[in-house]
Amino acid sequence: MRRIAIVGAGQAGLQLGLGLLAVDGYEVTVVSGRTPDAMRSGPVMSTQAMFGPALRVERAAGLDLWAGEAPSVHAVDAVLVPEPGLRALEFTMTLDEPAQSVDQRVKMARWLELLEERGGRVEYRELDRAGLAELAAAHDLTVVAVGRGELAGIFERDAARSPFDAPQRRLAALYAHGVGAPDPTAAPRARMHAVPGVGELYLQPALTLSGPCDILLWESVPGSAFDRFGDRPPGAEQLRRMREVMAEYLPWEAELWAGAEPTDPGASLYGALTPVVRRPVARLDGGVAVLGIGDALVVNDPITGQGANGAARAADACLRAIVERGDAPFTTEWMTQVFEDFWQRHARHGVALTADLLTMPAHLQGVFAAAAEHEPVARRLANTYAEPADHAAWLATPELTDAYLASVR
Ligand SMILES: Cc1cc2nc3c(=O)[nH]c(=O)nc-3n(C[C@H](O)[C@H](O)[C@H](O)COP(=O)(O)OP(=O)(O)OC[C@H]3O[C@@H](n4cnc5c(N)ncnc54)[C@H](O)[C@@H]3O)c2cc1C
Repeated sequence: MRRIAIVGAGQAGLQLGLGLLAVDGYEVTVVSGRTPDAMRSGPVMSTQAMFGPALRVERAAGLDLWAGEAPSVHAVDAVLVPEPGLRALEFTMTLDEPAQSVDQRVKMARWLELLEERGGRVEYRELDRAGLAELAAAHDLTVVAVGRGELAGIFERDAARSPFDAPQRRLAALYAHGVGAPDPTAAPRARMHAVPGVGELYLQPALTLSGPCDILLWESVPGSAFDRFGDRPPGAEQLRRMREVMAEYLPWEAELWAGAEPTDPGASLYGALTPVVRRPVARLDGGVAVLGIGDALVVNDPITGQGANGAARAADACLRAIVERGDAPFTTEWMTQVFEDFWQRHARHGVALTADLLTMPAHLQGVFAAAAEHEPVARRLANTYAEPADHAAWLATPELTDAYLASVR
């Protein structure tokens, strides 16, 4: 039996652990700072919209446990608001495969229980550097999947791959019941509002502890009129301020929020992420090396929803690499190559797409304008969020974008 330790019970760590338990020959230990009950009774952690390719990985592993309950989102209605109250551009972005958002409090708590039911060992403790060195010395491979936790600091920042050195948006998210839909008879859709220079609002139907809900992800350009939540107000006050700003900028959306209320006392989330890419291997006291995965290595602003999707795909890539390795030792060269392959194939595209959406270069503004006139452009844009490798084929340079838009016109 090969002994694998995983630190962190999130999308990356639990998906990898459950994946290894499904293959013969692995003894899996997960170290989790929180119990399933603590997760369920704690605050929300993400808005976790998952796209088709990541959901397919979960489905193949038998981990898509909420398919029947969670709203299936087939399309995103996008509106560009250049000044308060003005809907300048509108288009619908259709996804080839539906997206889904299951509150990580529901999902990770259940996956953690499942891991124990399937023979994994769980140690409930917050690991520090010394504890990590001890754990790593006792295992064939230790994977650090601590998200944005402090322990991720053991991995050195890769300046050449990190596009920013400060947060580009301040974030506020709220889970709510009672949000109206523009067409209550239509299938659930996500809604995206972009107010250039001010911020973006993403609404997505989701599943939370108390059933279906809507999640609003509020992305504010620091210092703008959207940036009203620095004092982290409790849900009711957060909702009041959100309605106030919506009434000025997006009055049609404010109407839909007239009867809304927070889903529970933990329904609010605040933050500001500095996007970062880190080197994948850290050497600990005593000389043992560990491999990072998920947000521990690649943090994106959630504006394009690359985080949990990237973590899912990183876990899948890591699982395959571990199994392919057979009985050979997990050397630092192997660890470096596992991440390098994943970076080249997937992660770099998500980072580039996210940087573009945060900064909106002129050619991307042209894509939004074209999407309002040509359905294939809107469709390709939506599906690039789901499969960001397509960014390299049509969004990476103005020339590529111009060539594609000319072919559509
Ligand atoms: C506001 C917001 C909205 C988002 N929306 C989306 C979205 O719509 N779509 C999307 O794809 N992504 C989204 N993300 C990003 C997504 O949530 C993360 O990328 C994803 O959860 C990363 O998974 P992970 O497993 O790497 O880390 P995490 O989910 O952070 O899990 C890490 C786990 O490790 C545990 N841990 C940390 N330190 C220790 C320690 N020392 N010892 C033991 N355990 C430890 C933590 O408690 C946690 O359980 C969003 C993020 C934010 C902040």
